[in-house]
Amino acid sequence: NVFTIHSSIGDRFFQYIDEHQSDYIQRHKEWVAVESDSIQPDLRKEVIRIMALAADRLVALGAIVNLVNLGSHQLPDGQDLPLPPVIIGKLVVEPQNPTVTYGHVDVQPAKKEDDWKTDPYTLTEINGNLYGHGAIDNKGPVLAWINAVETFKALKLVVNFKFVIEGMEEARSLGLGKLLQEENQCFFSDVDYVVTLDSLWLSNKKPAFTYESEGNACFFVDVECGSKYLHNGTSGGISHEPLMDLIALLGNNMHHCSGEVVNASSLAAFKVGLDIALDGMV
Ligand SMILES: [Zn+2]
Repeated sequence: NVFTIHSSIGDRFFQYIDEHQSDYIQRHKEWVAVESDSIQPDLRKEVIRIMALAADRLVALGAIVNLVNLGSHQLPDGQDLPLPPVIIGKLVVEPQNPTVTYGHVDVQPAKKEDDWKTDPYTLTEINGNLYGHGAIDNKGPVLAWINAVETFKALKLVVNFKFVIEGMEEARSLGLGKLLQEENQCFFSDVDYVVTLDSLWLSNKKPAFTYESEGNACFFVDVECGSKYLHNGTSGGISHEPLMDLIALLGNNMHHCSGEVVNASSLAAFKVGLDIALDGMV
């Protein structure tokens, strides 16, 4: 019956993983040892190096891998720094089952002096747990997923996926947004769902399945006021200070201080209010 078949596949799957555990830990160690800090400019070459390592591992699985060059970005001192490429690619066996996986392989800056109990770039086992910078966020999950795909392939099970891996997540994902938009009608045209690997388990036994995440809404507001210079004196009635009106609007509509999430309708009301207020100010 179907359950027997499934459990025998499950047994073979976990048996394969157990047999290859030391290989997987070795890979994890190699990845954690790369100082792929996307914040510090002098470590950018390490981010580029880990992107190449990730690409190699995916190519070894038989995936079609595209390392997309994103050009460079400018630092505050005017220096141009190359952006690491983004990996997009696919391993498609059953075209009717598209899936995209997202993960990142860069890390925040870290030094042993920052209260690390072990060297951040040396994967260290303590009581059966592995500690290292990026071991969880997000090198480990990316590798775990690659290892799972390898196991599927080794057992000749159908596996089908697309993937996006970046190296600038800790630096606001510079360059990624533009690439995603450009690929909207190509790479993503047959994608229904995206699975992000960049989340945590709630405990050792409670996995977390991310189905929604918070986002950032960034906007700039230009305030214009009277076209005439009003120094002081009696230039004719009350003149409204537009900054005060703007603060009142923000205060009425953005409740983040109380923990309440701004919803779409209050954001829309905010926008309408702002338009009216700005019209009135000009
Ligand atoms: Zn992360």
